[in-house]
Amino acid sequence: MFGMFESNHCHKTLFCRRCLPVYLPLNTIFMYRTHTCGELRKTNIGETVTLSGWVQGVRDKGSLLWIDLRDRYGITQITIETENAAKEIVKTARELGREYVISVKGSVIERYSKSDKISTGDIEIVPSDIKILNAAIVPPFTIEDDTDGGDEIRMKYRYLDIRREVVRNNLKLRHSLSRETRKYLDAHQFIEIETPVLIKSTPEGARDFVVPSRMNQGQFYALPQSPQTFKQLLMVSGIDRYYQIVKCFRDEDLRADRQPEFTQIDCEMSFVDQDDILIMFEGLVKHLFKEIKGIEIDPLPRMSYDDAMRLYGNDKPDIRFGMQFADLTAITQNKGFNVFDQAEVVLAIVAPGANHFTRKQLDELTDWIKRPQIGAKGMIYCRCNDDGTFKSSADKFFNENELKRWGEITGAKAGDLILVLSGELKNTRKQMSELRIEMGRQLGLRDPKVFAPLWVTDFPLLELDEDTNRWHAMHHPFTSPKPEDIAMMKTNPGAIRANAYDMVINGIEVGGGSIRIHHKNLQQKMFKLLNFTDEEAKAQFGFLMNAFEYGAPPHGGLAFGFDRLCSLFGGSDSIRDFIAFPKNNMGRDVMIDAPSLISLEQKKELGL
Ligand code: ASP
Repeated sequence: MFGMFESNHCHKTLFCRRCLPVYLPLNTIFMYRTHTCGELRKTNIGETVTLSGWVQGVRDKGSLLWIDLRDRYGITQITIETENAAKEIVKTARELGREYVISVKGSVIERYSKSDKISTGDIEIVPSDIKILNAAIVPPFTIEDDTDGGDEIRMKYRYLDIRREVVRNNLKLRHSLSRETRKYLDAHQFIEIETPVLIKSTPEGARDFVVPSRMNQGQFYALPQSPQTFKQLLMVSGIDRYYQIVKCFRDEDLRADRQPEFTQIDCEMSFVDQDDILIMFEGLVKHLFKEIKGIEIDPLPRMSYDDAMRLYGNDKPDIRFGMQFADLTAITQNKGFNVFDQAEVVLAIVAPGANHFTRKQLDELTDWIKRPQIGAKGMIYCRCNDDGTFKSSADKFFNENELKRWGEITGAKAGDLILVLSGELKNTRKQMSELRIEMGRQLGLRDPKVFAPLWVTDFPLLELDEDTNRWHAMHHPFTSPKPEDIAMMKTNPGAIRANAYDMVINGIEVGGGSIRIHHKNLQQKMFKLLNFTDEEAKAQFGFLMNAFEYGAPPHGGLAFGFDRLCSLFGGSDSIRDFIAFPKNNMGRDVMIDAPSLISLEQKKELGL
């Protein structure tokens, strides 16, 4: 499926005369194979070839015996007429089991019953020699797209899982995405620079993974949650445009589909404002969609955080479909309906063409929204009938004219269904956002083949931790406030907007970043606002603030979640499918059995 995305190499064959000289001398001869198992066509009929690979299966019909030989590139059928073939060949063929590694020399002939299921379906090989290169015990699950292996067993034997084409295609897609990312960024003068993996632990953000230092007993390195400070220092160094496709580590409680180690496309630029960054990385995403999926993406809409929250109740809206929130608060008060009268807000969405929903479906939807995970108290609906009348579950309190106003304000048309939730602003938005997404799903509006990226901008700089009553950086402490909002640092910190942005695709945050603070004084003020004492700020980030004194250029950047981007491009919800050796929900690698205990000796050596 992803063959066309492989690379500039023609990929017709491993041994293409046109491509090979770029990499290897022309007379290079590979011992084990002349062709791959996905390569031979009618034009090769009559040639003598050697193929190597794994035995996908053997069918022995007595007088005829077939071997399906598989490698990364495909499957080729080997056919043996047992009565005519050399005894040795028949004997070897009958010894073969699934997943044996063999090498077959033979001639290419036209296949009698052709198959359009495989690329080599027009030909087959009549062997003159079969060599067993290695035997194999029976694999714990079938090596087929539709395998009988459950998740746990496939992870334990991931190296066998990767033999399956579906998994391999995911890894190929990942490769294509990183190759195209590098191509685009390289073309725009970005330099890939590696930053250290053993760094210093800082309390901001998520929990660090720490590594004990043997040579500095009692002290620990931390694994980077991101290369944030290093990339900023590279800007001070004058690198100007940096990127890195880089592993990051966060020791968080694992929610479904989070990995303790994950990959970012991490980028930083100097002498830029927000617009420059949005344009540059909009370009990257367009490039990826065009090269990998053959899709032209429209210019990305930009939406402020406030609008996203007001219209979608969510800072990562799925804009493949409409159903924006309408505010019915003003027109629903004092009609005797307590539920609305006591609510801070009354919000509505219009489910297009959903008038036909049965009472049972609506009851189910109400139960769904009342589940503790979502926590709505109830749901009011209003049918917009084909004859222009309205029928609501709150009819007792609202007459036809009033319901008509609901229709006007929400923009509902005949045949639509209006759904209404009410309560405290923050919760109601959240619940309505869930309801909108669920209705989008039920109405088939979330087409996985449609991609609707956008930028969300103007995030608040800070959020209040209600337990400690302290301000936290919403993005990170290096994010610059909007210059016009800096004055509010003393008076109204909660209202300060950040020069920060996220890229959202189909309701998933795929990337985010900010323009950074590049003046020492402002950075100090920011740390103060975040409750760092001067000493703490100096101990933890003194190196950065010192660097700012040596001529730090204005700079900013962002990072994309690479695993997430891969799963989105691959049309899957699971990032694990796109990681060669992922960890399970407990953060364990069940194949190598990590994490594991270490010996007392090791502990002693480390001073633990
Ligand atoms: N370092 C940030 C993160 O990992 C991204 C950025 O601001 O560039 O989320």
